[in-house]
Amino acid sequence: MAEQRWIPETLFDELGLRTEYAAERVLYETRTEHQHLVLFEHRHFGKVLMLDGATQVTTRDEFIYHEMMSHVPLLAHGKAREVLIVGGGDCGIAEEVLKHAGVAHLTQVEIDRSVVDFAREHFPEFTGPVLSEPRFELVIADGMHYVATTDRRFDVIIVDSTDPQGPGKVLFSREFYAGCRRCMAPGGVMVTQNGVPFFQPDELIGSIGHFRALFADGSCYVAAIPTYVGGHLAMGWATDDLTLRQVSVETLAARHAAAGSFATRYWTAEVHKAAFALPRFIADHVAP
Ligand code: SAM
Repeated sequence: MAEQRWIPETLFDELGLRTEYAAERVLYETRTEHQHLVLFEHRHFGKVLMLDGATQVTTRDEFIYHEMMSHVPLLAHGKAREVLIVGGGDCGIAEEVLKHAGVAHLTQVEIDRSVVDFAREHFPEFTGPVLSEPRFELVIADGMHYVATTDRRFDVIIVDSTDPQGPGKVLFSREFYAGCRRCMAPGGVMVTQNGVPFFQPDELIGSIGHFRALFADGSCYVAAIPTYVGGHLAMGWATDDLTLRQVSVETLAARHAAAGSFATRYWTAEVHKAAFALPRFIADHVAP
């Protein structure tokens, strides 16, 4: 009987913290051009994808992050036609974005083609509805270069990146955010994967500082995702439209209905509003 393999999340080694998963079966493991990738089956979380020792997505809790990174900016904006995802390899967020009938075109800029190819085989629940969708366009490129050079202008920009290590490091820089501002349409909004403030406060403080220098409104909202260990995950928020965070619960619910009333398992209009009410220790991190 083969010995049980325990797969560690090494993201917080510096903090002296390691989470380990008992892998029922390793489905795929490789070193791509950009990062180490392992996919395994776990008896509680289902399929678990890790890149460079950091959990990216699991079958069991993906809905929380994917719904909050897509429906919050799209329903706050209310009339988004052009959407950009930077990163997003597994296509979990793209699948949620394309549920919005009003979205005319979705561009996903992913640096590592092998993550999408692998997701095509191992996450068909995401890639199936996405890769066959005419509104979807996949661009294999470094997000940093794309936002600095594209002619397209986007109503909503979703940065579904890895943590600030390896290829993802540049996606937390002032230069990258300035590029996002450059290709944002008037009245547009950007949201970012911004780490768990309890363990990664500098990541959030750094991004918010850049947002405040580049946009009229820089803040964040939160959700708790079981496999993003450390309590709340912060999702960065940057826009010049100060009204987008003030949209009422009633208007959000009406927009959800108008967008097709698609089923959600985490997002509700009330949860959307509440996500911007920050616990004091996080509010102190992002206070002007
Ligand atoms: N939700 C996950 C998280 O919170 O950690 C992230 C999911 S997604 C898999 C992250 C994607 O960002 C990966 O596929 C990675 O290849 C991509 N990525 C990293 N750096 C990038 C860059 N500079 N430009 C474009 N994509 C990048």
